[in-house]
Amino acid sequence: MPVRPPVQTSTQLGVSNTKMLWRGLIRRCPACGCSDTHSSYATMRDECPECSLKFERIFGHSIGYIGLNTVVTFSVTFMVLLVGSILTRPDIPVVPLAIATVLSAVVLPALFLPSAHTMWTAIDLAIRPLAPGEIDPRFIKVDPVAGEWANES
Ligand SMILES: [Zn+2]
Repeated sequence: MPVRPPVQTSTQLGVSNTKMLWRGLIRRCPACGCSDTHSSYATMRDECPECSLKFERIFGHSIGYIGLNTVVTFSVTFMVLLVGSILTRPDIPVVPLAIATVLSAVVLPALFLPSAHTMWTAIDLAIRPLAPGEIDPRFIKVDPVAGEWANES
């Protein structure tokens, strides 16, 4: 029996990777767009109440959002330091620039945390296609098992 190539999540759901990333950035479920992804500011639900996607798709999923949060924080902090230095040269105000840099390094990870949760789930969905039964079948447009349009009528 020939092995079929995996059907990408974007094809399965009929949602582009860009849209899944955008939904993740605005703290929504990347798969269905549901906004109720967190039980508190810093606590992501186990699964989406709308489409039943388990947000922690594999053991160790949290390493990804921690890494994403770290990369974003370092990038923004570096940009604050770089742009602040370029705009104020040659008399760089060291103390105000240091305060701005430390503030971005301390505040940004807390502000970005919920988005990092959902964005990492979006990236994971873009990289690893949905497995059969991983999401409510109502949200599947192309069934990878049957290989046909599932919800066309
Ligand atoms: Zn959902």
